[in-house]
Amino acid sequence: MIDLDALRERLLPERDGAVHDSIPELADADPERCGLAIAGADGAVRRSRDADLPFSVQSAVKPFLFALALLDTGGAAHDRVGIEPTGEAFDAIKLESGTGRPPNPMVNAGALLTAALVDGGDAQGRAERIRSGLSAFAGRDLVVDEDVARSEHLLGDRNHALAHLMRAEGTLALEADDAVAAYARACAVLVDAEALAVMGATLALGGCNPVTGERVVPTHIARDVVSVMASCGVYDGSGRWMRSVGVPAKSSVSGAIVLSAPGVLGAAIVSPPLDDQGTSVRGRIGSELLSAELGLHLFGAD
Ligand code: GLN
Repeated sequence: MIDLDALRERLLPERDGAVHDSIPELADADPERCGLAIAGADGAVRRSRDADLPFSVQSAVKPFLFALALLDTGGAAHDRVGIEPTGEAFDAIKLESGTGRPPNPMVNAGALLTAALVDGGDAQGRAERIRSGLSAFAGRDLVVDEDVARSEHLLGDRNHALAHLMRAEGTLALEADDAVAAYARACAVLVDAEALAVMGATLALGGCNPVTGERVVPTHIARDVVSVMASCGVYDGSGRWMRSVGVPAKSSVSGAIVLSAPGVLGAAIVSPPLDDQGTSVRGRIGSELLSAELGLHLFGAD
C-alpha cells in the first residue's frame, strides 16, 4: 500500500517552478501546498495531508468538458474539434489549418468550444449543466469560485482572441463572450485533490463513478476522452509525460494534475509551482513516483 504522506514528504523539498500569475487569485496561491489523492476501482479513496484544500480546477476541467460535450451532442462534438497534439502552449492562438477547428479539446481553443457545446438552453442553464456534470464526476456537489470566474473572464484576453477567431472561422456558433464566460466559470469550479482523483477515476473506469456507482458517461465516451488525455493532456509536454509517467493525465495552471490509469484508478496531485509548460513541478515528479511505485505505466515497467 502506498503511503501518500510519505510521498508528499519526498516532494516538498522540490523548489523549482513558479506560481502562475495570470489572475490575482492564482498568483496568491501558497507555493508550499501539496496534496495527493487516489481513488480506486473499489471506491476506496486514499489521501495525503492537504488533499482537502480547495483550489480552482482550471485546465484539469478540460477532459470533463469534452466528455459532457460528447454526451450532450450525441458524439457530434467529434466533428467540431480535432484530436491531434499541437506541440504548442495551451493558449496558442492557432486553429487547425484547413478546417478552422480547434486542434484538440485539451488546449484552450478546444475547451472554449466544448464548453459552448454543453447543452443548457441559455448561458445560465449551460453553466449549471457544467457544474452539475462535473459534480457527478466528483461524486459531490461542486461550487464555482465567483472571484476566479470574474478574473478569468475579465483578464483572459487570449481566450477572447481565440473565441473571436473561431467565430471568424465559423466553427464557434455561440457568441464569443458567452463562450469565454462558460469556459471561465468551468475553470473556476472549486475542487480538492480528493474530488479530482474521483473525477479521474470515473473516466479511468469507463465512465462509472466508483464512489457513488453513478454512470456519468457511456464507456465509449470515457475511452475517447482518456485517449485524448494520453496524446494531448500535457500540451507540448505530452510526449515527455507519456514516456516518463505513462498514465493519461491533464495538467492545469492552478498546479493540479488529474490522472486516469485505465481500468485501475484515478489520482490527483496539486502543488502550485509550475514548469515552463504549465505543469506542476511536484505534480510531475509525484506522478512519476506514483506510476513507478504502483506499476501504472501503460507500456510496462522499467
Ligand atoms: N483558465 C486558464 C486559461 O484559460 C486555464 C489554463 C490552464 O490551466 N492551462 O488560461
